[in-house]
Amino acid sequence: MTELITIDEARDRVLEAVTRLGDEPVVLGAALGRVLAEDVTSAIAVPPFDSSAMDGYAVVAGPAAELDVVGEARAGHPFSGVVAPGSAVRISTGAVVPEGATAVVPVERTTAVKEQGSGDGVCVDRDMHGQRIHDRVSVPEMAPGANVRRAGEDIPLNAVVLRTGTKLGPAELGVAASVGRAELRCGRQPRVAVLVTGDELTEPGTPLGPGRIYGSNAFALAAQVERAGGVRTGHTTVPDDREGTRAAIAQALDEVDVVLISGGVSVGPHDHVKPALRELGVEERFWGVRLRPGKPAWFGTRGDTLAFGLPGNPVSAMVTFQLFARPALAALQGAAPDAPRVQARLEEPIRRNPQREQAIRVRLLQSENGPVARPTTGAQGSHVLTSMLGADALAFIAPGEGEAAAGERVEVELL
Ligand code: AMP
Ligand code: MG
Repeated sequence: MTELITIDEARDRVLEAVTRLGDEPVVLGAALGRVLAEDVTSAIAVPPFDSSAMDGYAVVAGPAAELDVVGEARAGHPFSGVVAPGSAVRISTGAVVPEGATAVVPVERTTAVKEQGSGDGVCVDRDMHGQRIHDRVSVPEMAPGANVRRAGEDIPLNAVVLRTGTKLGPAELGVAASVGRAELRCGRQPRVAVLVTGDELTEPGTPLGPGRIYGSNAFALAAQVERAGGVRTGHTTVPDDREGTRAAIAQALDEVDVVLISGGVSVGPHDHVKPALRELGVEERFWGVRLRPGKPAWFGTRGDTLAFGLPGNPVSAMVTFQLFARPALAALQGAAPDAPRVQARLEEPIRRNPQREQAIRVRLLQSENGPVARPTTGAQGSHVLTSMLGADALAFIAPGEGEAAAGERVEVELL
């Protein structure tokens, strides 16, 4: 670790190394969270026709009148005739506004006109209760266009409704369906291997031997990978020996787009990750970041394959994933790499680190003066994994002497 680089520099070096993966068609039902790889243009107008916004009567707009009811238009069942002045068509929400009609009178604003007993009424249907529909209704004055949803009011024909690079959420999937798309081209999801190193690691669910701990990184990192749109290929626990480390990394490099390795990346006699990566032809892009927690972070590439050596300390592993690996996974899929950042005021003073920028785990609270950042726990050590519980964001504290004062504005990255 000759010279530490800044967080921004490290992130830039990661993104420089990323080549976007290809794309593939994905059916809507499987596209939640995927990144769109095309601009979606609407081949139809939505709604496709002028439709009723209310249950009521389709009429020719004009002054108050008594009208003959000549038929019915239901959603999915248009009325085939024409509405002429003096007549009306009973209509339901979402039904096509029949030809000739220019407004819809909500049913609450109409009154039935007593039948005259002439028998020449044009009753054509029965309502849901089997009652005859009134032959005549009295309607108030209606302005043209009242309660009519215009064709294309939501989406005009040929409009671009979704842009390349958009992460697909529920609303995006709904909009894609509303323009008739059954599948979308999406960026391929990076395959990610999670390798955790350490002779001390024990799988949860089995008894702990002396000197052993339960490994948490495999699970926290795998979950972060999934959140970031990666496909993980299970995790492998790698022993602290040269051959085992090398074999595990070699296999991962051949199989996936991104190799995440936790632990074993420092300079101790039992840290075999960096030598193994070097021997396997992975070119170092950085080693060591002016960051706390997360200084011993390593990044390199072999061809288009990315390899991250993340610190073993659980908070450091999660923080360095968030700051360096997550942007890579986004960019590989064609999404914007940057996580959202906002300004917040510190609720309490935080001692600066002389050399390194700190990423403090904070909860964000609302105040009259905007967001306030409250550290999640007093202990923010790199091994205090509970400091990640309930964290909304990482607050960045610039290096220096003394402390960042309460009330000081800092940048926070939302998790
Ligand atoms: P290392 O980076 O391998 O030197 O590990 C640094 C610290 O993180 C040590 O205390 C390890 O026991 C711990 N550590 C490494 N990997 C894990 C893991 N998967 N889960 C929990 N702690 C770990
Ligand atoms: Mg270790």
